Amino acid sequence: MNILMIYPKPDTSKKPRFGFSYEMLTVATVLSKYHNVYIKDFSCESYDLYNFKKYIHDNNIDIACVECDSYALKRSQNILHAEEIIDILNQHVLTVAYGNYCYITRKKFGNAKCTVTENDINSIIKCINKFETSKIIPYIKDYDELPYINRNLLLEIPFYKENKDNTLLQTAKGCENTCIFCQRKGWQGCYIAHSDEYVLNEIEVIAKQGYKNVWIVDENFTFRLYRAKRLLKKIIESKLYKELRFFISSWANIDEEFLNLANKANIKIISFGIESGNKEILKFYRKNIDIDKVPDIIRYANMIGIFTVGNFIIGAPMENKDTINETFELIRKCEFDQVNIKTLDYMIGSYLYESLNDELKTEDHIFACVEKGLNDFKLKDIQNIKYTFLSDYYQLHRLVIEKKIRLYGTPF
Ligand code: SF4
Repeated sequence: MNILMIYPKPDTSKKPRFGFSYEMLTVATVLSKYHNVYIKDFSCESYDLYNFKKYIHDNNIDIACVECDSYALKRSQNILHAEEIIDILNQHVLTVAYGNYCYITRKKFGNAKCTVTENDINSIIKCINKFETSKIIPYIKDYDELPYINRNLLLEIPFYKENKDNTLLQTAKGCENTCIFCQRKGWQGCYIAHSDEYVLNEIEVIAKQGYKNVWIVDENFTFRLYRAKRLLKKIIESKLYKELRFFISSWANIDEEFLNLANKANIKIISFGIESGNKEILKFYRKNIDIDKVPDIIRYANMIGIFTVGNFIIGAPMENKDTINETFELIRKCEFDQVNIKTLDYMIGSYLYESLNDELKTEDHIFACVEKGLNDFKLKDIQNIKYTFLSDYYQLHRLVIEKKIRLYGTPF
Protein backbone atom coordinates (compact mmCIF):
# COMPACT_ATOMS: atom_id res chain seq x y z
CA MET A 1 0.00 0.00 0.00
CA ASN A 2 0.99 3.63 -0.35
CA ILE A 3 0.78 5.29 3.04
CA LEU A 4 1.10 9.01 3.67
CA MET A 5 2.16 10.22 7.14
CA ILE A 6 1.00 13.77 7.81
CA TYR A 7 1.98 16.24 10.52
CA PRO A 8 -0.61 19.08 10.25
CA LYS A 9 0.40 22.70 10.73
CA PRO A 10 0.28 24.04 14.31
CA ASP A 11 -2.88 25.83 15.49
CA THR A 12 -0.83 28.90 16.37
CA SER A 13 1.85 29.95 13.93
CA LYS A 14 5.34 29.35 15.22
CA LYS A 15 8.76 29.90 13.73
CA PRO A 16 9.98 26.37 12.99
CA ARG A 17 12.68 25.40 15.48
CA PHE A 18 14.64 22.30 14.75
CA GLY A 19 12.74 19.20 15.71
CA PHE A 20 10.35 16.69 14.22
CA SER A 21 7.71 14.38 15.54
CA TYR A 22 9.58 11.35 16.86
CA GLU A 23 6.26 9.54 16.92
CA MET A 24 5.64 10.19 13.24
CA LEU A 25 9.09 9.04 12.18
CA THR A 26 8.89 5.93 14.36
CA VAL A 27 5.57 4.93 12.81
CA ALA A 28 6.82 5.79 9.31
CA THR A 29 9.94 3.65 9.83
CA VAL A 30 7.98 0.63 11.03
CA LEU A 31 5.41 0.88 8.21
CA SER A 32 8.07 1.51 5.55
CA LYS A 33 9.42 -2.01 5.99
CA TYR A 34 6.16 -3.34 4.49
CA HIS A 35 4.63 -0.47 2.53
CA ASN A 36 5.64 2.62 0.54
CA VAL A 37 5.66 5.49 3.00
CA TYR A 38 5.57 9.21 2.19
CA ILE A 39 5.78 12.11 4.65
CA LYS A 40 4.24 15.58 4.61
CA ASP A 41 5.27 17.70 7.59
CA PHE A 42 3.29 20.94 7.60
CA SER A 43 5.04 22.16 10.73
CA CYS A 44 7.81 23.19 8.31
CA GLU A 45 6.37 22.70 4.78
CA SER A 46 3.88 25.14 3.32
CA TYR A 47 0.35 23.88 2.83
CA ASP A 48 -1.56 24.45 -0.35
CA LEU A 49 -4.85 22.61 -0.97
CA TYR A 50 -4.46 22.18 -4.73
CA ASN A 51 -0.92 20.80 -4.47
CA PHE A 52 -1.87 18.62 -1.53
CA LYS A 53 -4.71 16.96 -3.46
CA LYS A 54 -2.41 16.55 -6.48
CA TYR A 55 0.22 14.90 -4.26
CA ILE A 56 -2.37 12.40 -2.96
CA HIS A 57 -3.47 11.64 -6.49
CA ASP A 58 0.00 11.46 -8.11
CA ASN A 59 1.31 9.08 -5.44
CA ASN A 60 -1.78 6.87 -5.42
CA ILE A 61 -2.11 7.18 -1.66
CA ASP A 62 -4.25 4.45 -0.09
CA ILE A 63 -4.11 5.45 3.58
CA ALA A 64 -3.26 8.75 5.25
CA CYS A 65 -2.14 8.70 8.92
CA VAL A 66 -2.66 12.13 10.46
CA GLU A 67 -0.81 12.98 13.66
CA CYS A 68 -2.95 14.93 16.13
CA ASP A 69 -0.39 16.43 18.46
CA SER A 70 -0.86 18.18 21.75
CA TYR A 71 1.18 20.83 23.51
CA ALA A 72 4.54 19.13 23.66
CA LEU A 73 7.32 21.53 24.56
CA LYS A 74 8.35 22.68 21.13
CA ARG A 75 5.12 22.33 19.23
CA SER A 76 1.67 23.74 19.50
CA GLN A 77 -1.47 21.68 19.28
CA ASN A 78 -2.30 21.02 15.60
CA ILE A 79 -5.80 19.65 15.76
CA LEU A 80 -7.56 22.41 13.78
CA HIS A 81 -5.58 21.63 10.67
CA ALA A 82 -5.75 17.90 11.43
CA GLU A 83 -9.57 18.05 11.34
CA GLU A 84 -9.54 20.10 8.13
CA ILE A 85 -7.11 17.76 6.39
CA ILE A 86 -9.00 14.64 7.45
CA ASP A 87 -12.22 16.04 5.96
CA ILE A 88 -10.44 16.65 2.65
CA LEU A 89 -8.68 13.29 2.70
CA ASN A 90 -11.88 11.37 3.44
CA GLN A 91 -13.05 12.14 -0.11
CA HIS A 92 -10.03 10.30 -1.56
CA VAL A 93 -8.37 7.87 0.88
CA LEU A 94 -8.75 6.00 4.17
CA THR A 95 -7.85 8.18 7.13
CA VAL A 96 -6.23 7.21 10.43
CA ALA A 97 -5.88 9.71 13.28
CA TYR A 98 -3.20 9.02 15.87
CA GLY A 99 -0.97 11.04 18.21
CA ASN A 100 -0.85 12.51 21.69
CA TYR A 101 -4.18 14.32 21.42
CA CYS A 102 -5.93 11.02 20.61
CA TYR A 103 -4.07 9.23 23.42
CA ILE A 104 -5.12 11.90 25.94
CA THR A 105 -8.76 12.23 24.92
CA ARG A 106 -9.25 8.52 24.05
CA LYS A 107 -12.06 9.56 21.75
CA LYS A 108 -12.76 9.24 18.03
CA PHE A 109 -11.02 12.17 16.34
CA GLY A 110 -13.12 14.30 13.96
CA ASN A 111 -14.27 12.34 10.91
CA ALA A 112 -11.28 10.02 10.77
CA LYS A 113 -12.16 6.55 9.55
CA CYS A 114 -10.07 5.09 12.36
CA THR A 115 -8.66 6.71 15.53
CA VAL A 116 -5.78 5.15 17.44
CA THR A 117 -6.36 5.93 21.11
CA GLU A 118 -3.63 3.80 22.71
CA ASN A 119 -0.08 5.15 22.82
CA ASP A 120 1.33 1.89 21.52
CA ILE A 121 2.89 1.27 18.12
CA ASN A 122 1.00 -2.03 17.95
CA SER A 123 -2.33 -0.19 17.96
CA ILE A 124 -1.25 1.62 14.77
CA ILE A 125 0.04 -1.63 13.25
CA LYS A 126 -3.29 -3.31 14.08
CA CYS A 127 -5.17 -0.47 12.43
CA ILE A 128 -3.08 -0.61 9.22
CA ASN A 129 -3.28 -4.42 9.10
CA LYS A 130 -7.08 -4.14 9.05
CA PHE A 131 -6.86 -2.54 5.61
CA GLU A 132 -4.37 -5.01 4.11
CA THR A 133 -4.66 -8.78 3.98
CA SER A 134 -1.53 -9.77 2.06
CA LYS A 135 1.25 -7.84 3.88
CA ILE A 136 0.59 -8.23 7.59
CA ILE A 137 2.97 -6.24 9.78
CA PRO A 138 4.07 -8.24 12.84
CA TYR A 139 3.62 -6.70 16.29
CA ILE A 140 6.56 -5.17 18.15
CA LYS A 141 6.97 -7.16 21.35
CA ASP A 142 9.67 -5.20 23.13
CA TYR A 143 10.81 -1.53 23.22
CA ASP A 144 14.22 -2.62 21.89
CA GLU A 145 12.52 -4.38 18.96
CA LEU A 146 11.66 -0.99 17.48
CA PRO A 147 13.90 -0.25 14.50
CA TYR A 148 16.07 2.87 14.70
CA ILE A 149 14.11 5.71 13.14
CA ASN A 150 14.95 6.10 9.47
CA ARG A 151 16.16 9.68 9.45
CA ASN A 152 16.60 9.59 5.67
CA LEU A 153 12.82 9.58 5.27
CA LEU A 154 12.85 13.28 6.22
CA LEU A 155 15.57 14.40 3.86
CA GLU A 156 13.19 15.02 0.95
CA ILE A 157 11.80 17.91 3.00
CA PRO A 158 13.90 21.08 2.46
CA PHE A 159 13.82 22.15 6.14
CA TYR A 160 15.41 18.89 7.27
CA LYS A 161 17.90 18.90 4.39
CA GLU A 162 19.00 22.41 5.42
CA ASN A 163 19.37 21.19 9.02
CA LYS A 164 21.21 18.01 8.12
CA ASP A 165 23.68 18.39 11.01
CA ASN A 166 20.84 18.03 13.51
CA THR A 167 18.84 15.05 14.59
CA LEU A 168 16.79 13.73 17.50
CA LEU A 169 17.31 10.63 19.60
CA GLN A 170 15.02 8.99 22.11
CA THR A 171 16.72 6.75 24.67
CA ALA A 172 13.71 6.47 27.01
CA LYS A 173 10.08 7.55 27.22
CA GLY A 174 8.10 8.88 30.18
CA CYS A 175 8.95 10.24 33.61
CA GLU A 176 7.35 9.06 36.83
CA ASN A 177 7.82 12.30 38.73
CA THR A 178 4.56 13.74 40.02
CA CYS A 179 4.42 17.32 38.61
CA ILE A 180 0.75 18.25 38.41
CA PHE A 181 1.12 20.63 35.45
CA CYS A 182 2.90 18.04 33.28
CA GLN A 183 0.87 17.04 30.29
CA ARG A 184 3.08 14.16 29.28
CA LYS A 185 1.44 11.94 31.89
CA GLY A 186 -1.68 12.12 29.74
CA TRP A 187 -0.05 10.11 26.99
CA GLN A 188 2.87 8.29 28.63
CA GLY A 189 2.22 7.25 32.21
CA CYS A 190 5.17 4.95 32.78
CA TYR A 191 8.90 5.15 32.16
CA ILE A 192 10.44 2.78 29.61
CA ALA A 193 14.04 2.80 28.45
CA HIS A 194 16.06 1.28 25.65
CA SER A 195 19.00 -0.91 26.65
CA ASP A 196 22.43 0.72 26.70
CA GLU A 197 23.48 -1.42 23.72
CA TYR A 198 20.49 -0.26 21.69
CA VAL A 199 21.30 3.39 22.41
CA LEU A 200 25.03 3.01 21.72
CA ASN A 201 24.40 1.27 18.40
CA GLU A 202 21.95 3.98 17.37
CA ILE A 203 24.46 6.69 18.27
CA GLU A 204 27.03 4.88 16.12
CA VAL A 205 24.56 4.89 13.20
CA ILE A 206 23.87 8.60 13.75
CA ALA A 207 27.60 9.40 13.76
CA LYS A 208 28.16 7.37 10.58
CA GLN A 209 25.33 9.25 8.88
CA GLY A 210 27.24 12.47 9.49
CA TYR A 211 25.00 14.18 12.06
CA LYS A 212 26.74 16.52 14.48
CA ASN A 213 24.09 17.71 16.93
CA VAL A 214 21.94 15.18 18.74
CA TRP A 215 18.92 16.52 20.65
CA ILE A 216 17.89 13.82 23.10
CA VAL A 217 14.11 14.03 23.37
CA ASP A 218 13.62 11.94 26.52
CA GLU A 219 11.19 13.76 28.81
CA ASN A 220 13.74 13.57 31.61
CA PHE A 221 17.10 12.03 30.67
CA THR A 222 18.14 11.70 34.32
CA PHE A 223 14.92 10.22 35.69
CA ARG A 224 16.99 7.11 36.49
CA LEU A 225 20.24 8.83 37.41
CA TYR A 226 22.25 5.59 37.71
CA ARG A 227 21.15 4.60 34.20
CA ALA A 228 22.03 8.03 32.81
CA LYS A 229 25.52 7.81 34.37
CA ARG A 230 26.05 4.25 33.14
CA LEU A 231 25.02 5.25 29.63
CA LEU A 232 27.33 8.27 29.60
CA LYS A 233 30.25 6.14 30.83
CA LYS A 234 29.67 3.77 27.90
CA ILE A 235 29.43 6.66 25.42
CA ILE A 236 32.74 7.99 26.77
CA GLU A 237 34.42 4.54 26.58
CA SER A 238 33.19 4.06 23.01
CA LYS A 239 34.63 7.48 22.05
CA LEU A 240 31.43 8.13 20.09
CA TYR A 241 31.08 11.51 21.80
CA LYS A 242 34.05 12.86 19.83
CA GLU A 243 32.07 13.41 16.65
CA LEU A 244 28.83 14.52 18.28
CA ARG A 245 27.32 17.14 20.58
CA PHE A 246 24.40 16.24 22.77
CA PHE A 247 21.57 18.27 24.33
CA ILE A 248 19.33 16.96 27.09
CA SER A 249 16.42 17.86 29.38
CA SER A 250 16.77 16.98 33.03
CA TRP A 251 15.28 17.61 36.42
CA ALA A 252 17.61 19.07 39.06
CA ASN A 253 18.04 15.82 41.01
CA ILE A 254 21.52 15.24 39.68
CA ASP A 255 25.02 15.56 41.13
CA GLU A 256 28.52 16.70 40.22
CA GLU A 257 29.52 13.19 39.14
CA PHE A 258 26.74 13.26 36.53
CA LEU A 259 27.78 16.72 35.33
CA ASN A 260 31.42 15.63 34.98
CA LEU A 261 30.32 12.64 32.89
CA ALA A 262 28.00 14.84 30.85
CA ASN A 263 30.85 17.23 30.17
CA LYS A 264 33.17 14.43 29.06
CA ALA A 265 30.46 12.93 26.86
CA ASN A 266 30.07 16.28 25.07
CA ILE A 267 26.66 17.21 26.45
CA LYS A 268 26.65 20.91 25.61
CA ILE A 269 23.26 22.08 26.85
CA ILE A 270 21.15 20.90 29.76
CA SER A 271 17.63 22.23 30.01
CA PHE A 272 16.44 22.08 33.63
CA GLY A 273 12.84 22.07 34.81
CA ILE A 274 12.99 24.04 38.07
CA GLU A 275 9.61 25.84 37.91
CA SER A 276 9.75 28.05 41.04
CA GLY A 277 12.05 29.43 43.70
CA ASN A 278 9.33 29.15 46.32
CA LYS A 279 9.01 25.95 48.36
CA GLU A 280 5.26 26.19 48.92
CA ILE A 281 4.66 26.55 45.20
CA LEU A 282 6.96 23.63 44.42
CA LYS A 283 4.95 21.58 46.90
CA PHE A 284 1.74 22.63 45.17
CA TYR A 285 3.24 21.60 41.81
CA ARG A 286 4.34 18.30 43.44
CA LYS A 287 7.77 18.91 41.93
CA ASN A 288 10.16 16.64 43.77
CA ILE A 289 13.35 18.65 43.83
CA ASP A 290 15.48 20.03 46.65
CA ILE A 291 15.52 23.73 45.80
CA ASP A 292 18.30 24.45 48.32
CA LYS A 293 20.69 22.32 46.29
CA VAL A 294 19.78 23.79 42.90
CA PRO A 295 22.09 26.87 42.79
CA ASP A 296 25.22 24.81 43.53
CA ILE A 297 24.38 22.25 40.85
CA ILE A 298 23.65 24.86 38.18
CA ARG A 299 26.71 26.94 39.04
CA TYR A 300 28.87 23.83 38.84
CA ALA A 301 27.46 23.01 35.38
CA ASN A 302 28.18 26.59 34.31
CA MET A 303 31.69 26.44 35.71
CA ILE A 304 32.66 23.36 33.71
CA GLY A 305 31.33 24.88 30.49
CA ILE A 306 27.90 23.30 30.10
CA PHE A 307 25.28 25.76 28.82
CA THR A 308 22.34 25.83 31.19
CA VAL A 309 18.69 26.54 30.46
CA GLY A 310 16.27 27.16 33.33
CA ASN A 311 12.55 26.58 32.87
CA PHE A 312 10.14 28.32 35.23
CA ILE A 313 6.41 28.80 35.67
CA ILE A 314 4.55 31.76 37.16
CA GLY A 315 0.90 31.71 38.14
CA ALA A 316 0.22 29.16 40.90
CA PRO A 317 -2.87 30.02 42.98
CA MET A 318 -0.70 31.22 45.90
CA GLU A 319 1.66 33.23 43.63
CA ASN A 320 2.28 36.84 44.76
CA LYS A 321 4.92 39.49 44.14
CA ASP A 322 7.20 38.01 46.82
CA THR A 323 7.08 34.47 45.44
CA ILE A 324 7.77 35.80 41.94
CA ASN A 325 10.77 37.68 43.32
CA GLU A 326 12.01 34.49 44.99
CA THR A 327 11.93 32.80 41.58
CA PHE A 328 13.76 35.73 39.96
CA GLU A 329 16.34 35.71 42.76
CA LEU A 330 16.95 32.01 42.20
CA ILE A 331 17.45 32.59 38.47
CA ARG A 332 20.04 35.33 39.19
CA LYS A 333 21.81 33.13 41.72
CA CYS A 334 22.01 30.20 39.32
CA GLU A 335 23.14 32.36 36.38
CA PHE A 336 21.31 30.34 33.76
CA ASP A 337 22.45 31.03 30.19
CA GLN A 338 18.90 30.89 28.95
CA VAL A 339 15.69 31.32 30.90
CA ASN A 340 12.20 30.31 29.83
CA ILE A 341 9.37 31.58 32.01
CA LYS A 342 5.92 30.31 31.19
CA THR A 343 2.56 31.35 32.54
CA LEU A 344 1.03 28.40 34.37
CA ASP A 345 -1.05 26.56 31.80
CA TYR A 346 -3.74 24.07 32.77
CA MET A 347 -3.24 21.69 29.84
CA ILE A 348 -5.42 18.79 28.85
CA GLY A 349 -3.85 15.56 30.05
CA SER A 350 -2.35 17.07 33.22
CA TYR A 351 -3.59 16.53 36.78
CA LEU A 352 -4.08 20.30 37.00
CA TYR A 353 -6.50 20.31 34.09
CA GLU A 354 -8.41 17.42 35.63
CA SER A 355 -8.79 19.45 38.84
CA LEU A 356 -10.57 22.32 37.04
CA ASN A 357 -14.30 22.88 37.36
CA ASP A 358 -16.10 21.59 34.28
CA GLU A 359 -17.27 25.09 33.28
CA LEU A 360 -13.62 26.12 32.82
CA LYS A 361 -12.83 23.16 30.57
CA THR A 362 -14.19 24.84 27.46
CA GLU A 363 -10.76 24.76 25.83
CA ASP A 364 -7.92 22.26 25.86
CA HIS A 365 -5.73 24.61 27.86
CA ILE A 366 -6.37 27.51 30.23
CA PHE A 367 -3.76 30.05 31.30
CA ALA A 368 -3.89 30.74 35.04
CA CYS A 369 -5.03 34.31 35.71
CA VAL A 370 -7.44 36.36 37.78
CA GLU A 371 -9.86 36.48 34.83
CA LYS A 372 -10.32 32.71 35.20
CA GLY A 373 -10.29 32.88 39.00
CA LEU A 374 -7.08 30.86 39.17
CA ASN A 375 -4.74 33.41 40.79
CA ASP A 376 -4.49 37.12 41.62
CA PHE A 377 -2.79 38.33 38.42
CA LYS A 378 -4.20 39.58 35.15
CA LEU A 379 -2.83 37.56 32.24
CA LYS A 380 -1.25 40.63 30.65
CA ASP A 381 0.38 41.63 33.96
CA ILE A 382 2.07 38.23 34.22
CA GLN A 383 3.39 38.65 30.66
CA ASN A 384 4.74 42.12 31.48
CA ILE A 385 6.43 40.97 34.68
CA LYS A 386 8.13 38.14 32.75
CA TYR A 387 9.29 40.30 29.85
CA THR A 388 10.63 43.08 32.07
CA PHE A 389 12.59 40.62 34.17
CA LEU A 390 13.97 38.73 31.18
CA SER A 391 15.16 41.80 29.30
CA ASP A 392 17.00 43.07 32.43
CA TYR A 393 18.40 39.62 33.12
CA TYR A 394 19.80 39.10 29.63
CA GLN A 395 21.41 42.54 29.67
CA LEU A 396 23.20 41.67 32.88
CA HIS A 397 24.08 38.16 31.72
CA ARG A 398 25.48 39.25 28.33
CA LEU A 399 29.08 39.56 29.52
CA VAL A 400 28.93 36.20 31.31
CA ILE A 401 27.69 34.38 28.23
CA GLU A 402 30.19 36.13 25.96
CA LYS A 403 33.01 34.97 28.25
CA LYS A 404 31.63 31.44 28.29
CA ILE A 405 31.50 31.33 24.49
CA ARG A 406 35.10 32.61 24.30
CA LEU A 407 36.22 29.85 26.67
CA TYR A 408 34.13 26.91 25.45
CA GLY A 409 32.81 27.89 21.99
CA THR A 410 29.15 28.06 21.03
CA PRO A 411 27.11 25.07 22.14
CA PHE A 412 26.05 24.23 18.55
S1 SF4 B 1 10.08 16.09 35.88
FE1 SF4 B 1 9.52 16.98 33.89
S2 SF4 B 1 8.83 15.26 32.62
FE2 SF4 B 1 8.85 14.57 34.76
S3 SF4 B 1 6.75 14.85 35.50
FE3 SF4 B 1 7.92 16.70 36.03
S4 SF4 B 1 7.63 18.12 34.30
FE4 SF4 B 1 6.98 16.07 33.60
